[in-house]
Amino acid sequence: MRTRSGSHKTRSPATGRPKEYRSVLEETFWLSANTFELRLARPEGFAFRAGQHIRLHSQGLERDYSLTTGPEEAPLGLCIRHVPGGGVTPALASLEPGEELTFSGPRGHFAFRPSDRPAVFVASGTGIAPFAAMVRSGVRGFLLLHGVREPDELYYENLFLDAAAEVVPCLTGHGTGKSPRTDAFSGRVTAYLESQLPRKEYDFYLCGREEMIRDVTLLVDEAFAGSRVYAEIFFAGAGD
Ligand SMILES: Cc1cc2nc3c(=O)[nH]c(=O)nc-3n(C[C@H](O)[C@H](O)[C@H](O)COP(=O)(O)OP(=O)(O)OC[C@H]3O[C@@H](n4cnc5c(N)ncnc54)[C@H](O)[C@@H]3O)c2cc1C
Repeated sequence: MRTRSGSHKTRSPATGRPKEYRSVLEETFWLSANTFELRLARPEGFAFRAGQHIRLHSQGLERDYSLTTGPEEAPLGLCIRHVPGGGVTPALASLEPGEELTFSGPRGHFAFRPSDRPAVFVASGTGIAPFAAMVRSGVRGFLLLHGVREPDELYYENLFLDAAAEVVPCLTGHGTGKSPRTDAFSGRVTAYLESQLPRKEYDFYLCGREEMIRDVTLLVDEAFAGSRVYAEIFFAGAGD
């Protein structure tokens, strides 16, 4: 069935149990050669907190995606990497505007918690998504490390440049992307933290690949005593 606007089945407070919603795709916007933003009609009654995710239903499968937009914004944004041969992302990448999607949510507890300690956001690849939502909900003054291979994968960079105290792109590729960058840190986010970040207490927010989260958490334990770590794992194994 196709509809033009989102609709809700049951009301759900942002902190309540996930509910099922119907929506339609408004637009697909490609952020790079392999990553796209889905813009979904916001179902009436759907509420969430910045940093939370939804569970999309597609191809008889379910996959989780963090919302990139602020809690008051519409349409809803999702930043999705096209995984060749993946069970769901190839189908999501080829959706046409107007096609219906169902999802459940909101889900998760990855939210910004203000404190006296400086906030350090660390993302790998599409792990940048919940941080975009946090900025759009008003979070400011953090240090952002975004680990990617090539500069054209630094999604939402202008949004972060306006909101962050500092943005450090951490590039692990060979600079063969469309727009080579000389101002970036060359290496992994863990290498930057280990070699550049002054030793004191921070609130670390980590999102993306499991290996990055494990490595940064171990480093924090060793080098940044008294710090807190909040983490959202997107996937384990190969990938960016
Ligand atoms: C809480 C949560 C939030 C998530 N939010 C996002 C999000 O905002 N954006 C997003 O793209 N994915 C996100 N994911 C991952 C997403 O749920 C899917 O696993 C992913 O889109 C792959 O789905 P698939 O069916 O196409 O691939 P599958 O058939 O499930 O193949 C999975 C393989 O693809 C690779 N892979 C999975 N996700 C990524 C990725 N993001 N980047 C690179 N390689 C990957 C891994 O090697 C993984 O083993 C999130 C996962 C969780 C648990």
